[in-house]
Amino acid sequence: MSHDCVIKGGLLVYPEKTVRADLAISGGKISAVTEPGKAKGKATIDAEGCYLLPGAIDPHTHPVYLDSIANTARSAAFGGVTTVIHYAYARPGNSLIAKIKEFKEEGEATSCIDFALHGGLFETLKQADEIPQAFKMGVTSFKVFMAYAKLGWMTDDYAMAKTMDIVSKHGGMVCVHAETGLAIDYIMDRMLAEKANFAERFLETSPDIAEGEGIFRAVYIGRLMNCPVYIPHISSAEGIQVIRFLKRMGYAVIAETCPQYLGLTWEGLKERGPLGKVGPSIKTEGDRMALWMAMQEGLFDSIGSDHAPKDKKVEDEFFDAAYGSPEVETMLPVVWHFGVNRGLITPNEVAALMAENTARIMGLFPKKGRLEPGSDADVVVLDPTERWTVAAANQHSNASYTLFDGQELLGRVKKVLARGRLIVEGEKFLGAEGYGEFLPSKTGNWDYRQKRR
Ligand SMILES: [Zn+2]
Repeated sequence: MSHDCVIKGGLLVYPEKTVRADLAISGGKISAVTEPGKAKGKATIDAEGCYLLPGAIDPHTHPVYLDSIANTARSAAFGGVTTVIHYAYARPGNSLIAKIKEFKEEGEATSCIDFALHGGLFETLKQADEIPQAFKMGVTSFKVFMAYAKLGWMTDDYAMAKTMDIVSKHGGMVCVHAETGLAIDYIMDRMLAEKANFAERFLETSPDIAEGEGIFRAVYIGRLMNCPVYIPHISSAEGIQVIRFLKRMGYAVIAETCPQYLGLTWEGLKERGPLGKVGPSIKTEGDRMALWMAMQEGLFDSIGSDHAPKDKKVEDEFFDAAYGSPEVETMLPVVWHFGVNRGLITPNEVAALMAENTARIMGLFPKKGRLEPGSDADVVVLDPTERWTVAAANQHSNASYTLFDGQELLGRVKKVLARGRLIVEGEKFLGAEGYGEFLPSKTGNWDYRQKRR
């Protein structure tokens, strides 16, 4: 039988093995994995000397700032990401359902890659009542904030318990931005009174201890409500210490970290001022290494980008600058460079943390997350020998900066296929707006590791 396309000569990466094989594609799906030279296709792609990874799944993107859904998807594609899970933020006064509809429609019309949605609650007590309706629309995970009380984003324990109660009854999960909000606001008020230099003392406003406390409280309230809790963007050794305890106890927690915490430190970013202002803060070298050690220990479930490019410049007033940075495109190359090239993790762990685990957590498996016959042909061809230097100019976000500006990386995404369609080839974008489809999620599967075949 002749396949639509065969990718020849690559090393296929799975969480538990790496195999030299040809990967055949038909009708947008993987149709066979064969011994080299055995499959015939109408078209062929040469992947000699390259790794074939399952397309990365980014569970954490915010397409509401400098990058729209279309821009985020395009930037993602160039970074080897073939599925994104956007946070559909419902700001105070917004209806959660209306926002989900808006994101879904915009995504279906403009995204070049498949996408799912998390709901994002800001007026939690009220918006939580819309959660049962959201489940019917294929949205089964919901974010609340324990931080940013002054911005009016903070959810108190009462509203968080209510949200978790409703979500647990439907079999989903709650994502919690875990930092002690009110204590941080007190610290910031004290610093304002002292006329403190916020650019110098940024870490005091997003401290590691606040992360540890937030994670602990979120997961414990989750226990009270019998609700799995997903902790995004874990940034510190303190956070890890709490995660280690919770996981050893067998509690329902899913842990995510991001490339900015794995590749950067505040010390190294300081001169870039507000550009490096992200929440939670990027911390110390000790924290950075603790995150890698935690990954080796198996404490992390997934890696997400927290892509949130904001309009800011180095010379802006630090205190007023927005939190966030562009990350989706650098995510996979950064994790590869700092993790695989330095021997901290294996390519197999990349396949788990950036694809298969995330697919299982979001209920997208086996359609997504693995190079297996029957699965969508979402494939990344990565050349581990190519050296390149990150610059805002070679990135596709609308942001005029990247936190990895000037960073030399070894390993580059060369080709990307989404459901069998070649969407990126080197510098060329071959995707199309509207090609991406909405993926209903089915979350709550926090103990997916036990259920692995
Ligand atoms: Zn975020």
